[in-house]
Amino acid sequence: MQYLLALDEGTTSARSVLYDESGRRLAMESCPVECAYPQPGWVEQDPGAIWRAQRESARRLMRAAAVRPSEIVALGITNQRETTIVWDRQTGQPVAPAIVWQCRRTADYCAALASSPAGAPITGKTGLVIDAYFSASKIRWIIEETPGARERADAGDLLFGNVDTWLVWQLTNGAVHATDFTNASRTMLMDLATGDWDDELLGIFDVPRSMLPRIVPSSSVIGTAMAEHLGAEIPIAGIAGDQQAALFGQACFRPGLSKNTYGTGCFALIHTGSRLPASNSGLVATRAASADSVAQFAMEGSVFIAGAALQWLRDEVGTLRSAEESEQLAASIPDNGGVYFVPAFVGLGAPYWDSSARGLITGITRGAGRAQLARAALEAIAYQTRELVEALEAGSGQRITELRADGGAAVNNFLMQFQADILGIPVVRPVDTETTALGAAYLAGLATRFWKDPAELEGFWKAERVFEPSITAPARDALLDGWRRAVRRCRL
Ligand code: ADP
Repeated sequence: MQYLLALDEGTTSARSVLYDESGRRLAMESCPVECAYPQPGWVEQDPGAIWRAQRESARRLMRAAAVRPSEIVALGITNQRETTIVWDRQTGQPVAPAIVWQCRRTADYCAALASSPAGAPITGKTGLVIDAYFSASKIRWIIEETPGARERADAGDLLFGNVDTWLVWQLTNGAVHATDFTNASRTMLMDLATGDWDDELLGIFDVPRSMLPRIVPSSSVIGTAMAEHLGAEIPIAGIAGDQQAALFGQACFRPGLSKNTYGTGCFALIHTGSRLPASNSGLVATRAASADSVAQFAMEGSVFIAGAALQWLRDEVGTLRSAEESEQLAASIPDNGGVYFVPAFVGLGAPYWDSSARGLITGITRGAGRAQLARAALEAIAYQTRELVEALEAGSGQRITELRADGGAAVNNFLMQFQADILGIPVVRPVDTETTALGAAYLAGLATRFWKDPAELEGFWKAERVFEPSITAPARDALLDGWRRAVRRCRL
């Protein structure tokens, strides 16, 4: 038998997933990865722990599935994006903990940068909003704040990588220092138009070019994982950052196709083809993973608080036993009873970009209870996603005619139906909602000719359920009107 292996390194766990020739998921194993919070707003991980968790999950997977390592044709890697690791070129030792994407330690630096003359070229070249998320300010921080690191970096002794690069380096015993276009496009050091590291950006962040990995196509043979790690030599044949991998795993290969991942927050991406989108209204332009070396692009936007609003009702308010219970509670009442919940816990993202907004619940009457709160939280996910979809359509100039859904909250049928109602377009949930790992497997399978072309993969993609809009336009408008009134009130 022949199999494809996906290594899916997320923020909270490292997972390994096994696929057969028809792209069917056969088995999955995961190992947790701890985060440390050494100061308010700071988030770190141990690079060694990330690697060990990833390797262990793959070993466990092969044991559990009784697969011989020699039966694995290739592996693909997908990863938490932007998280920054710097290590010594000779010893392989990290010089500092990994700075995780969520870490806000460089927020002040980024705010100052955004209002300086350097702001315009950064945004113009990278397609990104200047923010502490992206890797450049994190690399700079490690170089400047770690004793001796500046000298070592300037002498060419240090290497930078996101988690994909770090895993490739480990798997190849230091033979390959590479990343793919999707991860590189999130560093804030790559010119999106040329697909190369940019000297002006390197100068702004004071990062020596010698630290940076080679950028390779997302679907290409990058190196060979050494036998001591996974039991056999296995070609590493695909890399993509998690959201771009999910877009690929949803078989969104063409302009206009889009997906939304419903998790703690939401991440929506629309494929824009070979046309470079301009970043605007807080959306970012980014590289999409492609089956060949032709550059493909996407626009991306995110909702900060989605499933997290349910966690809040469960953990802080105590009106929800579990996130799953929200489905049955919401469906137990005929409508929202006029209750709206704007979960602006950390401000509002696209299209408002108001960091001072704070959450509120409006329209409460004596009859309102657990069901209304749960329903309002689920509806809020759908309203926010609609606003994101509108922004993506405006930004990309493409019409979105169907939204592909994945992520932990996509199992909620009430949410999916309400999403279709409020968008006025079908929402499609695929059979395999682990689209991130699937996308990495697809990329590796294409590069090794395990699969012929994207058309073959399109044949694998199957809808488990299509949610068709089922409310009238006036009913939709009335709901949206209620939401917008609530949003206006939450802005200070
Ligand atoms: P992450 O963003 O950490 O990758 P997941 O994709 O695993 O998260 O999704 C977890 C989120 O989905 C949580 O915020 C949880 O509240 C929410 N969630 C999980 N199951 C459901 C459900 N049945 N209905 C609604 N929300 C859910």
